[in-house]
Amino acid sequence: DQVRNMGTIGGNIANGSPIGDTPPPLIALGARLTLRRGKKRRTIPLEDYFIAYGKQDRRPGEFVEAVHVPVPAKGTKFAVYKITKRRDEDITAALGAFYLTLAKDGSVADIRIAYGGMAATPKRAFAVEKTLIGKPWTEASVEAAMAEYANDFTPLTDMRASAEYRALAAKNLLLRFFVETTGTRAPFQVSRYEAA
Ligand SMILES: Cc1cc2nc3c(=O)[nH]c(=O)nc-3n(C[C@H](O)[C@H](O)[C@H](O)COP(=O)(O)OP(=O)(O)OC[C@H]3O[C@@H](n4cnc5c(N)ncnc54)[C@H](O)[C@@H]3O)c2cc1C
Repeated sequence: DQVRNMGTIGGNIANGSPIGDTPPPLIALGARLTLRRGKKRRTIPLEDYFIAYGKQDRRPGEFVEAVHVPVPAKGTKFAVYKITKRRDEDITAALGAFYLTLAKDGSVADIRIAYGGMAATPKRAFAVEKTLIGKPWTEASVEAAMAEYANDFTPLTDMRASAEYRALAAKNLLLRFFVETTGTRAPFQVSRYEAA
């Protein structure tokens, strides 16, 4: 039976899926992972755990003992968006997690962005982040950063979404995060229209 009454965070990380839902938000939050074998422990940044598809930094005999999540500093903005075919209870096509710290002058002091479903592992958008750091948190800066997604991700086509859909939807999530954190436009609303 594939469906079990478990669903732990440790299992969601340890199975190393590129579409596990907890790794991207935890990576964006700067989580660290403690691996343990017997009395031997080591702690690594969570993002370093995911090496390649099906390959994690877990040595023989080690298990995931703990996940350490820093408490976000006051005033930081954090959001996670999951894109699926069905509205509820569906496996991710793409998922984006955003963690933003603004400086007093309104520029981006720090931003961490991580995605699932966009690469062979959960992965940070380093090129996108780099474009934003130090820039004012404005639609113009965000639009410039959206052009960088192609440098971070080469998504695949599968039964959940095409590569083109993933590429477009992923960068639109950054725009959504901008809109939701600034209130510069009316919130996006997606309606479902039945075929006539
Ligand atoms: C129908 C269905 C729908 C699903 N939908 C989603 C979804 O929407 N989003 C999502 O993220 N996932 C989804 N999953 C995947 C799966 O349920 C999750 O990854 C779940 O979180 C696994 O956690 P678990 O604790 O049950 O792990 P298990 O299934 O018990 O373990 C997963 C793997 O990790 C290993 N493992 C578990 N814990 C540890 C540990 N502490 N240290 C080292 N290795 C460990 C196990 O040996 C195994 O190889 C779905 C699965 C099914 C069958």
